[in-house]
Amino acid sequence: MEDKLKNSKRLIVIGGGAAGFFCAINAARMNKNLQVVIIEKSNKLLSKVRVSGGGRCNVTHACFDILEMSKKYPRGQHFVKKAFHQFFTNDTIRWFEERNVKLKTEKDGRMFPVTNSSQTIIDCLLKEAEKYSVEIKMNKEVKSLQLVNKNSDTSFQIQLSNSEIIESNILVIACGGYPKSAMFDWLKISNHNIENPTPSLFTFNLPHHPISKLMGVSVENAIVKIVGTKLEQEGPLLITHWGLSGPAVLKLSAWGARELASTIWHFSILINWMPNFNNQTLRDQFHQLRKEMGSQKVLSKNKFDLPNRLWEFIALQSGIKPECRWADLTTVDQNKFINNLCCFAAEVKGKTTFKEEFVTAGGIKLTEIDANSMQSKIVNNLYFVGEVMDVDGITGGFNFQHAWTSGWVAANHISHL
Ligand SMILES: Cc1cc2nc3c(=O)[nH]c(=O)nc-3n(C[C@H](O)[C@H](O)[C@H](O)COP(=O)(O)OP(=O)(O)OC[C@H]3O[C@@H](n4cnc5c(N)ncnc54)[C@H](O)[C@@H]3O)c2cc1C
Repeated sequence: MEDKLKNSKRLIVIGGGAAGFFCAINAARMNKNLQVVIIEKSNKLLSKVRVSGGGRCNVTHACFDILEMSKKYPRGQHFVKKAFHQFFTNDTIRWFEERNVKLKTEKDGRMFPVTNSSQTIIDCLLKEAEKYSVEIKMNKEVKSLQLVNKNSDTSFQIQLSNSEIIESNILVIACGGYPKSAMFDWLKISNHNIENPTPSLFTFNLPHHPISKLMGVSVENAIVKIVGTKLEQEGPLLITHWGLSGPAVLKLSAWGARELASTIWHFSILINWMPNFNNQTLRDQFHQLRKEMGSQKVLSKNKFDLPNRLWEFIALQSGIKPECRWADLTTVDQNKFINNLCCFAAEVKGKTTFKEEFVTAGGIKLTEIDANSMQSKIVNNLYFVGEVMDVDGITGGFNFQHAWTSGWVAANHISHL
């Protein structure tokens, strides 16, 4: 047994999140001679999996076209496209199904375990780790790395927070995203460059804006544009007590992550609450309503698909009096109302990442990683998986799919070393 251990290679995975776990358990399964160890700095494993998708874990997205799927990654589109050829959404579904975890698809394409509980995913990953004897060291933060070059091969000395040093032949960095560049310092020895980290998938703050009185009100489809840029997104929009949220805003925050960071998250937006209409078509509709409903109050039940509270709010914001009837609506008020329905202007001052599917844009530069193996192009036997790389997806299960894909691709390559 001692001999076998001496001859086998040791793989150390830094980080006990989705990508690190998926890499470790698959590598251990594919190559039984590997000694696999996960090092996790906290006292929790898979903590983001647990809280993800509101505790249900949005495992992946029901998209089975690689090109279409790759378009959901504001950073790393071409990189993930290559990797998806090895392990894609259908592979994720099959992988979990083979381990008795069935996934279901919701109307918007998001996929969750049928149990509606992220614990199902956690249990499955932990069971695999046990089955393939993956060793897990918790409460151990990696503080620094040392590269050891011998006969054109590189191995690693890893220093932990308790000054313990452990050695490995193969090293996988799965430490997730860090909010500040300085937090990548312990990786410096690897000579890799970092794309500046910046938040993605956040909601917009509209401090003291009267619209926050409508918190909880949502529209099924709206277009949100960022003034002075080409950034715009369409989708469900939710009014919160601090501002705006929902897929349209989250997607916009992802595509605009860098541009919005450069404004220190102070920018102007325009909202079209009724994307099926523009100024002209809405004017025609209003003309019709004035004829058909002349004696009725403008503020009372609207003829469109908008929540009544929102309709009333926009009407009042446009200067329309509660008692005003359609027949008495002045052209000035009508124009203002139409403009606010199609082009509602607001100032965003700040962002909120609390409780959302928050990710970090930025990380290890992709030009320095081989997308077909996740191996570093700079250091032999060094791999990167998951959010530590400069890859991030929009909301909807795309970030976990990247974690599964990169974890599996690295595991597969490592198992053949
Ligand atoms: C609230 C929330 C909800 C989300 N919901 C979803 C969702 O439903 N669907 C989806 O696709 N994505 C979701 N995401 C995004 C998704 O969780 C991440 O993209 C994914 O977890 C990244 O996996 P990872 O393994 O790369 O990193 P992480 O999950 O961040 O894991 C990294 C691990 O490394 C450890 N670590 C860091 N540094 C060190 C060190 N020096 N030494 C030792 N250990 C270290 C950390 O403690 C952590 O446990 C959500 C994110 C958040 C915050």
